[in-house]
Amino acid sequence: MELKLYDTLTKEKRVFTPLDPANVRMYVCGPTVYDFAHIGNARPVIVFDVLFRLLQHLAKQGVWNGGKGETKVTYVRNITDVDDKINDRAARDFPGMALNEAIRKVTEQTEKQFHADVDALGCLRPTVEPRATEHIGEMRAIIEKLIANGNAYVEQDHVLFKVASDKNYGKLARRSLDEMLAGARVDVAPYKHDAMDFVLWKPSKPGEPSWPSPGGIKVQGRPGWHVECSAMAWKLLGEKFDIHGGGIDLVFPHHENELAQSCCAFHSDRMANVWMHNGFLQVEGEKMSKSLGNFVTINELLETDKFGGRLWSRATLRFAMMRTHYRQPIDWTVKGLEEAERTLLNWANILERNQTSFVEEASPNGSVLDALSDDLNTPMAIAEMHKLAEAARKNDLVSAQALHNSGKWFGIIGPDLYSSAGLSSIGQAAGELMPPEFRREVDLKVEARTAARARKDFKESDRIRDGLVAMGVELEDYKDRPTTWKLKR
Ligand code: AMP
Ligand code: ZN
Repeated sequence: MELKLYDTLTKEKRVFTPLDPANVRMYVCGPTVYDFAHIGNARPVIVFDVLFRLLQHLAKQGVWNGGKGETKVTYVRNITDVDDKINDRAARDFPGMALNEAIRKVTEQTEKQFHADVDALGCLRPTVEPRATEHIGEMRAIIEKLIANGNAYVEQDHVLFKVASDKNYGKLARRSLDEMLAGARVDVAPYKHDAMDFVLWKPSKPGEPSWPSPGGIKVQGRPGWHVECSAMAWKLLGEKFDIHGGGIDLVFPHHENELAQSCCAFHSDRMANVWMHNGFLQVEGEKMSKSLGNFVTINELLETDKFGGRLWSRATLRFAMMRTHYRQPIDWTVKGLEEAERTLLNWANILERNQTSFVEEASPNGSVLDALSDDLNTPMAIAEMHKLAEAARKNDLVSAQALHNSGKWFGIIGPDLYSSAGLSSIGQAAGELMPPEFRREVDLKVEARTAARARKDFKESDRIRDGLVAMGVELEDYKDRPTTWKLKR
């Protein structure tokens, strides 16, 4: 079994071999926590979640260490909590409050919301989720190294990276200097010796968060955006690690600059062995933007009818994202979501008809694994699952089991994933379409609650009721006949 991944830096698909066979190390650029995450932000989270699951699976199989000892997978995804957008939001939402306090409120709230959203989409939590503000010391250390190595200079209380000092600069984005200048949208600031140079550190404005500065600068300041990822990756994964990921928009300038900083600070040839970037998400054929009115958050998709006039289940949203190969652009459409939903319901019905109890094992089928091992080819993996479904429909129990286990492993099959009100609305419209697994799960819970009530264990019956409410279920109790249930909405 070989895993092949496409590397943006060398523009080739290569067999992936971890630098340290005992520890696969991956860094993915995370959210800037100032507002609800939109569905485009969900794309890298889901893409790298699938990769994380795949790496963990291969590690468990002993693919990289010949079956001797254990291979860990360390997945780091940062939280950017230093940013002008955060400061602006804090000042706007909490006028009169000390800015630091207001910023803490904004970032805490947003981080909580982000977790709720991506948890709902079935994404596993990364191994570590560092916050930028917890690693200012490492950022200063990198900046000091860059100054000492002649790759950075101090000017008017700023520290700038000297792009001309790095002969490899531009290799990741593969752009000419002119293109990079246009891409960077650099303002010609008086403290820059060259328009291409970028900020590593800058003085804080009054009231803004600030820390002691590097480079002998007397006034307090704050880091530039790019240096935070170099610092956190260094601290948590080392000078050189296996995989660095993010959306395609991050290639330039963010990743180009991270690469330059880390390589120059540590005299290394490459920061990460493989650079991976997901394609962009657009909505109904257009770029997502607030002014076009097609801007949609994960939360709105899960909890409102803003997109397509209805709610969508967690499984549908996740599965819809997996239907396109991660490097291709994805068009997020109502039609696509409906197709994703239909497939999942079809599979759920086939599984129900074939077997009443499945072995609770989440693992990808061999053919699914082969597809994923080819640069995370999820559309091909789904095609393999269709084949399994087709065989299962003809009562092949082995295929049914394999479909179930693969779907569980992907996080797209399981009663909990159907419990959002999204499915309940079609469930009610079409009567029969509620996934059987879900219906059975609710029936069992309602029975358990009735039993608890009969033995006057009201604590337990309330606990079960709360669980059902969380699944979107409404109960109706009667004096003279059994409790009934229906889905909310
Ligand atoms: P940001 O908060 O803008 O830094 O974005 C967080 C992550 O979401 C980054 O990896 C971005 O590349 C990614 N991202 C933002 N917008 C989109 C989009 N429309 N499609 C795909 N990925 C996106
Ligand atoms: Zn980053």
